[in-house]
Amino acid sequence: MDVDQFRMLGHELVEWIAAYRERLEELPVMSRVEPGEVAAQLPAEPPQQGEGLGDIVADLERVVLPGITHWNHPGWFAYFPSNSDLASVLADLVASGLGPQGMSWQTSPAATEVEDVVMEWLRQMIGLPESFTGVIHDSASTATFTALLCARERTTGFGQNRGGLQAEEAPLVVYASDQAHSSIPKAALLAGFGAEHLRLVPTDDEHALRADLLEKAVAEDRAAGHRPCAVVAATGTTATTALDPVGRVADVAERHGLWLHVDAALAGTAMICPEFRWMWEGAERADSIVFNPHKWMGPGFDLSAYYVRDPEHLVRVMSTDPSYLRTAQDGLVRNLRDWGIPLGRRFRALKLWFVIREHGVQGLQARIRRDVANAQWLEEQVDAAGEWERLAPVPLQTVCLRHAPGALAGDETALDAHNLAVVDAVNRSGQSYLTSAVVKGVRMIRVSIGAERTERRHVEAVWQALCEAAAAAR
Ligand code: PLP
Repeated sequence: MDVDQFRMLGHELVEWIAAYRERLEELPVMSRVEPGEVAAQLPAEPPQQGEGLGDIVADLERVVLPGITHWNHPGWFAYFPSNSDLASVLADLVASGLGPQGMSWQTSPAATEVEDVVMEWLRQMIGLPESFTGVIHDSASTATFTALLCARERTTGFGQNRGGLQAEEAPLVVYASDQAHSSIPKAALLAGFGAEHLRLVPTDDEHALRADLLEKAVAEDRAAGHRPCAVVAATGTTATTALDPVGRVADVAERHGLWLHVDAALAGTAMICPEFRWMWEGAERADSIVFNPHKWMGPGFDLSAYYVRDPEHLVRVMSTDPSYLRTAQDGLVRNLRDWGIPLGRRFRALKLWFVIREHGVQGLQARIRRDVANAQWLEEQVDAAGEWERLAPVPLQTVCLRHAPGALAGDETALDAHNLAVVDAVNRSGQSYLTSAVVKGVRMIRVSIGAERTERRHVEAVWQALCEAAAAAR
């Protein structure tokens, strides 16, 4: 493609994205295609000769758009918000247009230095002490994996430089709550701890980790000759946004020399508002913290913020030093390839830079406060309605509920099926999209508020849709 064609098509595609965002509300939130329907519209074999992009807009409309579930739709209440602010869309375009690969400072100094600055801005924005240094990872899963690798190496005194875990005399143990995100067991398994050395500590009635049981589990492991290594505390679990008592977990971690990693994937964004920071009190004592601006804040997927208290340790675990990567500035700058797993790095920092500049801290705070207020409004409706149960506290933007008509009282199987039918009916309407989860054997409908364009009227509409679907399904 020459630059003139790019210019023409680029304008057309930017216009198409703008028009898509304008008409989002008219589209069904959840894609209605059947499995295989999108693929069936594409040739099974690649074109042998370049065919040009032709009428790409028509193809996007015909093939791609029907197969899109619209995460930026104001009726998005599924899983968790994953906003892609239009400023971030432009930043992604610029990042691709410039095409730098920021593995070393020298390979594009701006990619490293913009990241240095925006991660420092973000640290200030979420109220972390200056002792933390941040780096961008693709996802919380990768950041948590990195954290457990660092924990492993601290406990073993850099066993990776000897026989690794295979040469350790006593097994190392990782702790998290029974509500921890699946990325935590996954990271523990991938980091070689083994399923037998992962303890999922029971949670209380509000689904928060019980620090007393954590202490007990650590003591039992010690008595058995195991080596407690790391604990992951959640600020905002995935299913219910439960808040583990980070301060009390930090007490246990400090007493027993555990690495403390805080997973605030969704909730970290709320820390931009000082009034929510009590939720992770104690996080300043963590060894590492991850949160996902790509969820609630605005930079589109993928952009995860990873903060550590001891960057030298991280770099010592992660760095490699082959001759072909050495540069003259190595002692003077951050080479971000040494701050994570992949060598190559996209210029993700541009997305944060654009979004923070576009909205300012106050603009972002206002949106978070709006979403939390909307969740509180819904919480009040649920609490006041007959036959509806709220199944978890609502500290943030997720309301967990179920419809429990008297006729089904005590019949968990029937309640499960009834609530699944309610979710299905709402989703099929196309106006809103909800997902459910089973927590401690109870099926809950989750209303996860926080799409950028979701206003009170959309929350009112989903509540009305839930009530109507529940009445129809009984
Ligand atoms: N931790 C929590 C609490 C989450 O809710 C999620 C995603 O929903 C993750 C981790 C994983 O995030 P990522 O997709 O960035 O790996």
